[in-house]
Amino acid sequence: MNIIFLAAPGAGKGTLSDMLKAKYGYNHISAGEVLREEVSSGSELGNEIKAIIDKGMLIDDELMKKLMLKKLSSLDKSKNFIFDGYPRTVVQVNHYKEICKELEIEEAYGIYLYIDKDVAMKRALGRRNCPNCKRGYNIYSDDFKPMVEGICDDCNVELISRNDDNEESFNKRFDTYLKETEPLIKIFDVEGKLVEFDALKNSSKLFSEIEEFLEKNK
Ligand code: AMP
Repeated sequence: MNIIFLAAPGAGKGTLSDMLKAKYGYNHISAGEVLREEVSSGSELGNEIKAIIDKGMLIDDELMKKLMLKKLSSLDKSKNFIFDGYPRTVVQVNHYKEICKELEIEEAYGIYLYIDKDVAMKRALGRRNCPNCKRGYNIYSDDFKPMVEGICDDCNVELISRNDDNEESFNKRFDTYLKETEPLIKIFDVEGKLVEFDALKNSSKLFSEIEEFLEKNK
């Protein structure tokens, strides 16, 4: 089953996607990662995208459609898909449906991860990544702390934080989520394609609950 994570920033979409990908070999399409790759390329478009991300705002829907179509076209369609961070607006839901039709990808089930703002903010501010292997860590979580403070367990290089994981940007991203993305939950629910999980639980418990759901609904 293809799935879409619908959740506020900091709810754990990326972590759960990584866990599912590692265990079941999903295609993991992180919209944020697609954008960050464009930013790292140093292109003019990348610089424009960076300015918008840093402000905690959303990238234009038409541009997102183009980037997602390109990314999805390059992936192996025999594997299931995890959509992480796309669609994020009502317009993007329509675009995503058009993309699925065009590429003959089965429409996904929405997994809504519920979280309180305070917890989400703490998780987002504690997030660290390895610039080399991209492994994610969290300094506030015993399960996701690096063995040596600030250093990747696998690559032995210094961990970095995302530019937009600061309090000001997080507040803006959370507001944008409430305004633009939360309405999607109703859309998926009305279509009978929504399941909800409590993202306050620790990631291994949450992961087993999601696995159980996926197993029952193969
Ligand atoms: P994420 O990695 O999912 O937290 O996304 C980081 C940032 O990328 C967001 O705060 C937005 O600025 C941008 N972004 C990610 N996904 C989308 C999307 N589907 N539509 C527009 N902007 C997005």
